[in-house]
Amino acid sequence: MPAVALQSLWSVTAPPGPECAPLRAPVTAQVAIIGAGYTGLAAALKLAEAGTDVVVLESRDIGDCASGLNGGQVIPGVKHDPDMLETLFGAQAGGRLTDTVAAGPEVVFALIKRLGIACDATRTGWIQPATSEAALRLQAQRAQQWQRRGAPVEMLSRAQVAQLTGSARYLGGLIDRRGGTVQPLSYVRGLARAALAAGARLFTHSAAVKLAHIDGAYRVSTVGGSVRAPQVIVATNAYSGALMGALRRSIVRVPSFQVATAPIPPELRATILPGGQSASDTWRLLRYFRVDASGRLVMGTRGTFARAPTSHTVRHHYRAVAEIYPQLAGLGFQYHWGGFVAMTPDHLPHLHELAPGLTAGLGYNGRGVAMATVMGGLLARRALGEPAAELGFPVTPVRPVPLHAFSGLGVRATIQYLRLADALSRA
Ligand SMILES: Cc1cc2nc3c(=O)[nH]c(=O)nc-3n(C[C@H](O)[C@H](O)[C@H](O)COP(=O)(O)OP(=O)(O)OC[C@H]3O[C@@H](n4cnc5c(N)ncnc54)[C@H](O)[C@@H]3O)c2cc1C
Repeated sequence: MPAVALQSLWSVTAPPGPECAPLRAPVTAQVAIIGAGYTGLAAALKLAEAGTDVVVLESRDIGDCASGLNGGQVIPGVKHDPDMLETLFGAQAGGRLTDTVAAGPEVVFALIKRLGIACDATRTGWIQPATSEAALRLQAQRAQQWQRRGAPVEMLSRAQVAQLTGSARYLGGLIDRRGGTVQPLSYVRGLARAALAAGARLFTHSAAVKLAHIDGAYRVSTVGGSVRAPQVIVATNAYSGALMGALRRSIVRVPSFQVATAPIPPELRATILPGGQSASDTWRLLRYFRVDASGRLVMGTRGTFARAPTSHTVRHHYRAVAEIYPQLAGLGFQYHWGGFVAMTPDHLPHLHELAPGLTAGLGYNGRGVAMATVMGGLLARRALGEPAAELGFPVTPVRPVPLHAFSGLGVRATIQYLRLADALSRA
C-alpha cells in the first residue's frame, strides 16, 4: 500500500507562530501553566490581562497538538442537551452550566474580534445532518430545548440540508447559528501572540517533567529550568502524560484523523457548504466536514492508530467523501493528518482541583475549540481567587476511567464496532 505523507492543511495556510525559546533557568511566577493549547493560552491571556505574572510551559511548539490539528468547527454546548444537564446537576447548577457552555462560540468569536486574530473566522452556524429518523427525533427535542432558552437553533428539512451542505445524503437535520469555523492553528497561534503581548512568558520545547510542592509553592521542573509558583494550571488534555498519571487515567484518548482535498472547482464550490457552515453528522462514528478558506473540503472521522498511514488506512475517509459528495469524484487528496481527542465516560469536560492551588481542565470530547477556550477562562478566574461555587461550572474530583490500562484496546474495538454498526444501518 502506498504511504500517505502526514501534513496538516492548517500548517501550510496559517501565519507563523510567535518565536519562543525553551526555558533555560529557574524563574518565578504567580501562576505556572502546563500546556499551550486553547486551554492553557486562554487561561494565560486572561491572567496576564488581569496583571498576573504567568509562565506557560509547552513540551512541543504552539499548536503541535489538538489545538493546531482539529477541524476548526466551533460547536456550541456539550454532548448533553440542556434538559439533561439540569437533570444531572439540578435546575440551578445545571442552568448555569448550560449558560456557560452555550456561551462558548460567543467567547471564541468575541476574543478573535477583540484581539484581531486573523484565522478565517466565519460565524454562519454549525449543521448536524441526520442519518436516521431516530436522530431526527432527538434533534427535534434538542432544538426545542435550546429554543426555550432563546438560542437560534432550528430544524432543517431534507431539502434545506441538501441546499446548505450540497449533499443529498441526509434526511434532514439541525442548524445551530451560534457556531461556525476557524482556521484552528491560526487561532491558537493568535492566542499565543495575544498572551505574550499581554505580558505572559511562554516557553516552547519545555516539557514539565516534575511537579513538587516545596515550602508553600509549587516547583515545575523542565530539563533546562524550573518555575516556582504558588499556583499551577494543568492544560494538557489528551496529551496528559506521566507527569499527571491521575489526569491521564481520567480520560480515554481517541485518535481522530482528517483529510483535505485539492481545491474544489469553482462551479462545484458554489454548491458545497456555500454558506461556510461546519457540519458533524449523526453516525455513531460521526463524520465532520467543512470547506476551508482555500476551497478545500476537510473531512474527519475517528481515525487510524498508524504512525505512517497508507492509502488503505485512510480509505474510510476517502469513502466518506465519495458517499457524502459523489460529485467530487476524481478530486485528489492533498493533506492527511490526525491527533488525539480526550473522551470522558460521562461525555462532559471536567474542571478539577487536584490540590490547593493546583487545577486542571480537560475532557472536551471532540468539542474543544469553544469549550477549551471557555475552560481556560474558568481556570484563570479560579486562579484569580473566584470561589469555585461562582464559576458556573462544577469543580469535580478526578476519577479514573475503569480498566484504563485496556482503554487503547477498547477504543480500537469500539471504533471497529461502530464502523460496522454504521455500515449495517447504511446497507
Ligand atoms: C483531529 C482532531 C479534530 C478535532 N476537531 C474538533 C473540531 O472540529 N471542533 C472542536 O470543537 N474540537 C475538535 N477537536 C478537539 C479540540 O481540538 C481539543 O478539544 C482542544 O484543542 C483541546 O485544547 P487543549 O488546549 O486542552 O489541548 P491541546 O491543544 O492538546 O494542548 C495540550 C498541550 O499540552 C502540551 N503538553 C502535554 N504534556 C506536557 C508537559 N508535560 N509539559 C508541557 N506541555 C505539555 C501538549 O504538547 C499540548 O500542546 C479535535 C481534535 C482532534 C485531535
